[in-house]
Amino acid sequence: MALPPLVEPAAELTVDEIRRYSRHLIIPDVGMDGQKRLKNSKVLVVGAGGLGSPALLYLAAAGVGTLGIVDFDTVDESNLQRQIIHGVSDIDRPKAESAAASIAEVNPLVNVVIHNTALDVDNVKEIFSQYDLIVDGTDNFATRYMVNDAAVLLGKPYVWGSIYRFDGQASVFWEEHGPCYRCLYPEPPPPGMVPSCAEGGVLGVLCASIGSIQVNEAIKLLTGIGEPLVGRLMVYDALEMEYRKIKVRKDPNCALCGDNPTVTDLLEDYEDFCGAVSAEAEEATLNATITARELKDWQDSGKDLFLVDVREPAEWEINRIPGATLIPKGEILSGEALSRFPQDRQIVLHCKSGVRSAEALAALKAAGFKDAVHVQGGIVSWVNTVDPSQPSY
Ligand SMILES: [Zn+2]
Repeated sequence: MALPPLVEPAAELTVDEIRRYSRHLIIPDVGMDGQKRLKNSKVLVVGAGGLGSPALLYLAAAGVGTLGIVDFDTVDESNLQRQIIHGVSDIDRPKAESAAASIAEVNPLVNVVIHNTALDVDNVKEIFSQYDLIVDGTDNFATRYMVNDAAVLLGKPYVWGSIYRFDGQASVFWEEHGPCYRCLYPEPPPPGMVPSCAEGGVLGVLCASIGSIQVNEAIKLLTGIGEPLVGRLMVYDALEMEYRKIKVRKDPNCALCGDNPTVTDLLEDYEDFCGAVSAEAEEATLNATITARELKDWQDSGKDLFLVDVREPAEWEINRIPGATLIPKGEILSGEALSRFPQDRQIVLHCKSGVRSAEALAALKAAGFKDAVHVQGGIVSWVNTVDPSQPSY
């Protein structure tokens, strides 16, 4: 289903623009008309991270007239493996600023608008309303549902992408012409079920594969060419080198865009909706949470501890807390590893950030280990507060 162009053409291209965009201008489907539409376009990219990096660079190079960048984070060394819009000299710099500087180098004709802020329920509609199209490069479910809801409520199309290890997905959600993200995924996954890229990793180049699909779709929507990925989900498997397209229908029971919607405005709290940890895990951690510093004090005082790292072996290879034993969370949840836990020692669990250890703690407590505790903030907090000589990831 071809759709009309989202944006009216600009009055004209300058001589500089005609020179710069000549390889677009000689494609009949783009031509002068398409390039003028790009010049008049306002596109917002949510997140200047893995997906946002290639998306911003190619949108800028393509000649999108106004590019908004929303990101509150700063550049970290561990970003550089995939977030190619940032460099070594940008470490600790706000990502939105770093990205804007790279864009100025690629194409100074682009008007860049920096939103150096966290997107939240108080600002998302106001920011989105300034743009024709949104490109979603977020890496967490709370923001993803908020982006979807805001876009649907404002009637804006957006190009969604997601990445994990070797797998990527992309689609165009536009309520007026097809399904929304909630039609595809009505409920967020249970907390702790789907690890983030920070927890599970991502092949750097996968960002380019999915980010370039997002830009491809953005250009098609803005200029009205080709068949947009509305109502279809692109699924990419980098190991098999396989792209599959799956039809996605509008769900008449969708809570947001269905026949009898129950979500008629933004939710008050998307973190709450997606749940950082499950209710069981939250309950288990009450009065059973210690800080990394407290763990160190326990160790120094000679307390008899059974310290368990519930991460995966690949993470254990990167860093570990001295004295810890590796028992991955899955073996605790399945009950397989329960016999390895002593009854007469203080059990302390930790993971990377405290989410998985909270889930494991709930399982241990249910199995009768009432005094077990977990470390708030996990090994990240340990490295930050106790042992900065260890590598972080
Ligand atoms: Zn929907």
